[in-house]
Amino acid sequence: MTDVAILGGGMTGLSAAYFLRHQLSYLVLEASSQAGGVIQTTQTGPFLLEHGPDCFMNQQPWGLELALELGLQDQLIESKDYQRGVYVLRHGQLELSTHEDKAVNEFLGHRARSGVNSNTFLSFKNGMQTWPRALAAQLGDRLLLNQRVCHVDWEQKIITCDSGLQIQARAILLTLPADASARLLNTSWPQLKTTQTACVYLAYPESALENRLDAFGLIIPASENRKISALTFVSSKFDHRCPEGFILLRAFLKGDFSDARKEVEQLFRPKSAPILEHGLRLTYADPKYAPDHFEQVTQLEQSLPAGVLIAGSPYRGVGISDCVHQARQATEKLLKFSRLNGIRPHGNISTLLDHVKVSAQPSDRQG
Ligand SMILES: Cc1cc2nc3c(=O)[nH]c(=O)nc-3n(C[C@H](O)[C@H](O)[C@H](O)COP(=O)(O)OP(=O)(O)OC[C@H]3O[C@@H](n4cnc5c(N)ncnc54)[C@H](O)[C@@H]3O)c2cc1C
Repeated sequence: MTDVAILGGGMTGLSAAYFLRHQLSYLVLEASSQAGGVIQTTQTGPFLLEHGPDCFMNQQPWGLELALELGLQDQLIESKDYQRGVYVLRHGQLELSTHEDKAVNEFLGHRARSGVNSNTFLSFKNGMQTWPRALAAQLGDRLLLNQRVCHVDWEQKIITCDSGLQIQARAILLTLPADASARLLNTSWPQLKTTQTACVYLAYPESALENRLDAFGLIIPASENRKISALTFVSSKFDHRCPEGFILLRAFLKGDFSDARKEVEQLFRPKSAPILEHGLRLTYADPKYAPDHFEQVTQLEQSLPAGVLIAGSPYRGVGISDCVHQARQATEKLLKFSRLNGIRPHGNISTLLDHVKVSAQPSDRQG
């Protein structure tokens, strides 16, 4: 039997496992074939493309502390703050906006905890996926990929995966998207809707655009009736995203991929075709919190069986740093639970995998 089963291998689950690793035995069960959850980076030729988050903020210490602890200081990069402004499209014209604007704050804050003003944005030279990869490397064979949890016996704490793998744990930490957790817990809460984001990356030679794009991006209010809702001027925000002499844009879409290019052409009238046009889709549970959200979370926590914990973006903060913080707090609670239940810290990790009840071949299902 393992001390802790961690369900989900996004930033929350991976960080919790990392914080626990010298204290308790654990396994992380991740449905997809790679660690990191919504954090995904791809390299397309010389262009670095983020599917989900493109940065985190240094205003809250938890994310940065973890990155430094992992030895990633040489990989960290800061946003180019001399170009920090954001344009807003008003009646078809680009207006430079201020941080007092809520939409601008949200754009700059990128879904980080509301009400917190943004500070410097940090990322990694080789993209955000550097971070979950570094965590995964620390966990080795205790991170089990391609293992989608389909059932949990909360009394016995027996976890069953689609593949047939079954493990028993003394405690369980759920770090899944809200809908997946709610299904397993057989509760209708939290009711955070699953949504899809689509974006298209476009790259042009600098000489093709008259506008220098000297800001982090452009917000397009719904009243403008456009098919793109925002543009990040990626090459103005961070270095290491595209070669010198090129401009890289990320358009967030409501329509088809092909609409992105048409809209950019109408807005900026580039003199040549893009040298890169690459569309990406990401499905995720959209954590928009209701006014009484935190009271609801407290109630949910109180209703969970002993030794079952929840952490991650559906609960107490959406930004990556908030997720790392929740992972740290969950670890402390797990250690306390273990002490109270006479579980000896330093589980015998080397023999842990022998305790897997039914071994199974990994499936190739994606998360
Ligand atoms: C498009 C987008 C942009 C964002 N931008 C930023 C940003 O710029 N800065 C910032 O700080 N934050 C940003 N965020 C928020 C932040 O990235 C997330 O809140 C955070 O990464 C969530 O981590 P998590 O581990 O809690 O959840 P997730 O990343 O969702 O991980 C959950 C994991 O559980 C797995 N899973 C699901 N079901 C099962 C199952 N049944 N069994 C086993 N595993 C399962 C999934 O495959 C996934 O790997 C953004 C989020 C999104 C979606």
